[in-house]
Amino acid sequence: MKRRWVEAEAAEIVARGAEAGIARDLALRIYSTRLLGADPKLVLHGGGNTSLKTRARDLLGNEIEVLRIKASGADMATIEAEGLPAVRLAPLRDLRALEAIADEKLLAIERANLIDPPAPNPSVEVMLHAFLPHKFVDHTHASAVLSIIDQPDGEKKCADAFGGRLAFVPYLMPGFGLAKKAIEIFERAQPGDGLILSKHGIVTFGESAREAYERMIAMVSLAEGFIARNSEPRNPVTVWREPEPIAAVAPIIRGACSQKDEKIEGAWRRLVLDFRGGPMVLSALESDLACLAEGGVVTPDHTIRTKNWPLVLPHADAGKLDGFAHATREAVGAFVGRYRDYFARHNKHAGGAKQELDPLPRVALVPGLGLFGLGRTKRDAAIAADIAEEWMAVVGDAERIGRFESISEADMFDCEYWPLEQAKLGACKEPPLAGQIVAVTGAAGAIGGATAKAFAGVGAEVALLDVNLAAALEQAKTIGGSPLAIACDVTDGGSVRAAFAQIAEHFGGVDIVVSNAGAAWQGRIGEVDEDILRKSFELNFYGHQRVAQAAIKIMRAQGTGGCLLFNASKQAVNPGPNFGPYGIPKAALLALMRQYALDYGAEGIRANAVNADRIRSGLLTEEMIASRAKARGLSEKDYMSGNLLGREVTAEDVAQAFLNQALALKTTADVTTVDGGNIAAAMR
Ligand SMILES: [Zn+2]
Repeated sequence: MKRRWVEAEAAEIVARGAEAGIARDLALRIYSTRLLGADPKLVLHGGGNTSLKTRARDLLGNEIEVLRIKASGADMATIEAEGLPAVRLAPLRDLRALEAIADEKLLAIERANLIDPPAPNPSVEVMLHAFLPHKFVDHTHASAVLSIIDQPDGEKKCADAFGGRLAFVPYLMPGFGLAKKAIEIFERAQPGDGLILSKHGIVTFGESAREAYERMIAMVSLAEGFIARNSEPRNPVTVWREPEPIAAVAPIIRGACSQKDEKIEGAWRRLVLDFRGGPMVLSALESDLACLAEGGVVTPDHTIRTKNWPLVLPHADAGKLDGFAHATREAVGAFVGRYRDYFARHNKHAGGAKQELDPLPRVALVPGLGLFGLGRTKRDAAIAADIAEEWMAVVGDAERIGRFESISEADMFDCEYWPLEQAKLGACKEPPLAGQIVAVTGAAGAIGGATAKAFAGVGAEVALLDVNLAAALEQAKTIGGSPLAIACDVTDGGSVRAAFAQIAEHFGGVDIVVSNAGAAWQGRIGEVDEDILRKSFELNFYGHQRVAQAAIKIMRAQGTGGCLLFNASKQAVNPGPNFGPYGIPKAALLALMRQYALDYGAEGIRANAVNADRIRSGLLTEEMIASRAKARGLSEKDYMSGNLLGREVTAEDVAQAFLNQALALKTTADVTTVDGGNIAAAMR
């Protein structure tokens, strides 16, 4: 394990801290916390924590001793001073006299002793830090250490690996009980470098940030050396079977891992996927699959991200997708059944007080292909996948030096349903399109951009498709969440299919498509060049057909319905003079929308269109507005608001109409008019 401490960097962070009023010891606490957090072999996503015992002034100006402890769920790699809230140390130390304390009461005491009242909650492992006497305490779930301690004879292996430099604390659930046990063992054994928390992680300490950090690196290096000495290197496994592409497999898994909303007919609770392949994953799937399937988590806090077990699927052999789909649905059914039994069994022991979480898997393993992380957002799916990759590496190493053994099922339940762990996942109020994947074509334009933004704003994952990739990438920067920008020319079937394959590979599928790309051509219909008419049909009719067809394929593989939304135009119902080349394919587009509504309604796939007019965009530029207003003898403002309501219609208004259609689960074959009122364009 590499030492990343650089004295010049440490000095710089101390100097910068001094300018911001941050004391030297806190600045160095921030520095080494970031060093630990930056290495996934030490710390992953909110796991691990650090602390500092120092002096500070409370709100009344009295100098007191405080514990600066990492906030619960905070990311160590990017931590700032606010991520290390200060708690009065003396009251925490006094708690040692208690036999036990309820979690809620403990949290209330911690919060009551925060120096800054609105500060975030201290780490769930705060009491362990408070009880240890050292100025700096570092705690990680280092992979190499886990491989040694997740063993039936973990204590003996630790003695061999660390030679008594770390005291061994038997497994207890994180929290007050573990902190009490750990301090008793520390006082008895007086280890020089730190503690092993069995089946959980490692603690090192020191009188300086550097000392605690270097002890962590030294101990993890000892663990790595122990693994290297006690195992044969494995040959990489070659997989001879040819799998279906990820883009074909992912929608099947995603569909099977969706749940019908019992309260709202037509609504589905969906998850987003994140794929990982690579030699380590593939070889672990070949050699350790049985152990991975049943083995359990490598450290207790992973259970809130990955659940205790993965969903194990069969090979997705090329040309046999139907069989794979069938087996996947069965496997998910069995997973859900097992999870419900597990919950019922342990909830009974817990007095029936717990609320069951959704029973769907968070990690899916496909031998020969790779693993999928699943989550309610792309970010959550990626976190599950990151943890799953490290979990595989730890289990693999554990099996090479002995036999992997996790904590018991009852212990996993206690962690999964521990209110303090659940709090790390944040408040449960979700936006209306959480878990849904939306593709928008022409996304670099005014309406496409506003639409992508509107959908992302209500929790959807968004793919921005545009013929101009650079512009789509720019647009993506203005959107929240984790948007994906893709080059897509809707006049080219191959380009459309590739774009949708990329969406399925990246997010796992697609639920809502806003087919928006278009451009206007003019010409008097009796005289217009046929090439112009054909060009317009290619984009304004066949473009939509290609997009809808590619989307339908994925939606049907998911089997959870879907929604196609088309940008028609006022021209589709109220043609303008010399606008035939634009209006006629748009009129055909309305018929196309109705045909999709008709042919796929029984599968829960809806199709709707928005009929908008006079929006500032690439089709109606500022120069065009100026010249048309002038031709009609109107001001630009009067021209733009020349409708029944006298209001200018914006791209955001059109975006809102698409969003309304997406949310209206009982509406299909609808045309929504967004033009401020134009009786000639009104739908009958
Ligand atoms: Zn821990």
